[in-house]
Parts: sequence; C-alpha cells; structure tokens
Amino acid sequence: MKVAIVGAGVIGCAAAWEFLRQGEQVVLLEAHEGPGLETSYANGGQLSYDYVAPLADPGVFPDLPGWLLDASSPLRFRPQLDTRQWRWLAAFLKACNADTARRSTSALLQLSYLSRDTLHAWMEEAPIDFHYRRNGKLIAYRSQRLLEKARRQVEYQATQGSRQRILDRHEAVEIEPALAGLGEALAGCVYTPTEEVGDCYLFTKQLFERVAAHPNAAVRTGARVVALPNRAGRISGVQLENGELIEADHVVVANGLRGYDLLKQHGERVLLYGLKGYSLSIPLGTGHGQSEPAASPSISVTDYERRIVYAELGNVLRVAAMVDIGDRSSDIRPERIRHLKAEVARTFPGLAVEQAEAWTGERPAMPEGRPVVGRSRRYENLWLNLGHGALGFTLACGSAVLLHGLMKQGQSPIDAAPFQLR
Ligand SMILES: Cc1cc2nc3c(=O)[nH]c(=O)nc-3n(C[C@H](O)[C@H](O)[C@H](O)COP(=O)(O)OP(=O)(O)OC[C@H]3O[C@@H](n4cnc5c(N)ncnc54)[C@H](O)[C@@H]3O)c2cc1C
Repeated sequence: MKVAIVGAGVIGCAAAWEFLRQGEQVVLLEAHEGPGLETSYANGGQLSYDYVAPLADPGVFPDLPGWLLDASSPLRFRPQLDTRQWRWLAAFLKACNADTARRSTSALLQLSYLSRDTLHAWMEEAPIDFHYRRNGKLIAYRSQRLLEKARRQVEYQATQGSRQRILDRHEAVEIEPALAGLGEALAGCVYTPTEEVGDCYLFTKQLFERVAAHPNAAVRTGARVVALPNRAGRISGVQLENGELIEADHVVVANGLRGYDLLKQHGERVLLYGLKGYSLSIPLGTGHGQSEPAASPSISVTDYERRIVYAELGNVLRVAAMVDIGDRSSDIRPERIRHLKAEVARTFPGLAVEQAEAWTGERPAMPEGRPVVGRSRRYENLWLNLGHGALGFTLACGSAVLLHGLMKQGQSPIDAAPFQLR
C-alpha cells in the first residue's frame, strides 16, 4: 500500500514512521526545505499525557471580558471580519459546557496514553535523541479556589487511570526549589510524576531522518502540495506546485493549519483555526549574564493562572505561553514578549530572560480541542491527521497508530469515534 503524507511536522513525521513500521510504502512531502520548521519548531516541549483538558471549558465564560479588554491577558481575542473566525468561535463557545469538556478530556486521555506507550515502544526499538526526560510536572496554582477545582479534576482523571496528587506550598517547594521565589503567592500544585518533556523539533527531525533512510520511503522537501487530483470518489495522489503528480493508494493530510485550505478546495470543510502563541528559549549555564542554575526549574512547571509552561531541554529553558485568537500574522509582537519576559522574571528571578530567543507559532486548533484523525467525508482514500491544537507533540505517536489502525483494519486500539468528522 503506497501512502502519500502531506506535511513533515511532528504529526506527519510520526505518521510516516508508524506506516513504515507497519510495512507500508510512504512518500512524505514537505513544503519547506526541512522538517518541523512551522508549529513543531519551538513549542513548549511538554509531553503532557495527563493534562489534556481542552481550552473549551465552562470556566472560560467569566474570563471572556479580560480576553477582550486586557492587553496583558494570557488569552487575547481580537475580533476580525472573518467568517472562519466567527464559525470557529461559535463552535468553541458551544463546546464550553461541562459534558463536552468531560467527553473531550476522556477521549484525549485515551489518545495521550496510547501516544505515551507508542513513544516508549519506539524508543526501546531505537533511541531517539531529543532531550527527552521523564522529570514530572507541577501545575502551580496561586488561587486556593482554583486549586480546589483542580482537586476535582484530579479525582475525575484518577478514574481514567491518571496518577496525580495535590501538594501544598511546602511540599511543592521541596520537590522544586526554584518555586520558592513565589513565596506566599503559591497556593499549591498538582504533581504528576510521570509527565515527560522533549524538544519537538529534534524529535521531528530525527523521525524525518529515519523515514528518509528507510528503503520503503521517499521524502521530498521543497515540495508544496497544491491539489489532490481525484476521480470517481477517490483521490489518485497529490499534485505539487511544479505540476508534478505523485500517485498513491491513500493520501494523509497532515499539514497542520494549512490543511484547511487544501481540504476546502476539495469540498471538505474542517473547523480548523490558528491560536497564536509564543515561546522563549532561555540559555542555561554558568557564564556571565547567564541564568543562575538554582533559579531554573528542573521539573516541568505550568503556571496555571498565567498559562505559562516551563521545560528544561538540554541547556535551554523553554517557556511557552499565550493564546492570541485572531492574530493571524507571524509577527513576534514586542509587547507580548515584553510582558512574557516580565512574568517569567517575577516567577523565577535569576533567569537570564534578556538573553532569550523569542518564537511564535499557531496551534492548529479544533473548537472542541480534539484532533481529527480519520477518513474524509468525501473521499474513501483521503485521511486527515489534523487539529492537534496545544497537544500536537503529546498526541503525535498515538495519532499515527490510530490512523494506521483505521486505514488498514478499520479499527483501532482506542475508541476512534471522538476523532472523526461528523
Ligand atoms: C506556543 C506553542 C506552544 C506549544 N506547546 C506544546 C507543548 O508543550 N506540547 C505539545 O504537545 N504541543 C504543543 N504545542 C502544539 C504543537 O506544537 C502543535 O500541535 C504541533 O506542532 C502541530 O504539528 P503539525 O505537524 O500538525 O503542524 P506543523 O508543525 O505546522 O507541520 C505542518 C507541516 O506541513 C507543511 N506544509 C504545509 N502546507 C503544505 C503543503 N501544501 N504541502 C506540503 N507541506 C506543507 C509545513 O511546512 C509544516 O512543516 C504548542 C504550540 C505552540 C504554538
């Protein structure tokens, strides 16, 4: 079976590797000159298997005025004259109810556990060098009320197989001394010892290189797919910008946010929208002007109220934050970076924030927070692996296994229904 995969971000590369492992023939097509240079490039590095609750939650309603009016809010909404934005937003708000949020969390947990087990199996077969660490995660809460709410989520997630516990301020600082800087401001933490981190770009690049070296694979960079030629309800392959046609038995659209336009021209509408975010890569070390080693958290930390995540990746502390809805430019906005650096410096004094490298990317997000991993509604051999939002790195390996199971056997190791187009 010959499968053409469009897009060599973390989602496309993981799918390509799984398909090769299962004995398929793969053609992996990437518009850029190399893999992982879009959203998979400098993300938060969290393999956040136990913390997958979607953004669409009834708790967003009290926050809405802040999103609109407060320029320093971690979530910002800029209304645009753009029907795509309004359609997405309407579906997002509709999904902000307890029942949908709970069903999405449950489905995402199944996919994330499949992902974790798959990644571990792949690494046992052959190590992947991407600053991977199982260092655990602390979700830090400043508000006692939110910590109590988190307790209920922890109790619910325990019924789904999660192993998390609540720590008070002193217990949290014992586990992660760099949190001491928060002092009395810290109410407590949710601790998940099994959480992992890694560098998503290095992971993507290594998978891409593995795929490229495989005898059953062809990889093409600088190869932008512009159309999916079709006859009688079937896709015959992909057409590149230079007019070249590559035939395939199945086509997987895994090109992140750009999947929206590619699918739309073939009559397949997907409510995919970009949620812009930022990251800082802060150098760690002992030299002049560098971060003090004790200032940097070595456990992965999420500052819940500020919506900021921290992960140590080799000699860099990766900080990721912000959800800007309606800013579709790729500009790195100086005021957002200034604000982020100030928050980081307040939370972890002693970090060399001024030396940080800033990056921005758009999370390819579905309104309910669940990716689409399954067959197109229009073509029997066209498949989607899109819309992983804030969890693409976490969910990549599981999505690859789910997709292959559906394509080859019509079944998968987890319930695939929540990830299908309706
Ligand atoms: C600030 C920020 C922090 C994040 N933190 C985390 C985190 O901590 N943990 C986590 O799990 N996730 C995180 N994410 C989300 C994660 O980065 C994304 O979900 C993931 O990278 C999406 O991968 P992708 O392969 O779908 O898309 P992309 O990485 O964008 O890859 C798509 C690829 O397709 C290519 N392409 C596009 N159009 C075409 C075409 N027509 N033909 C050929 N190729 C094409 C692109 O060049 C690109 O290489 C974060 C995202 C952001 C923005």
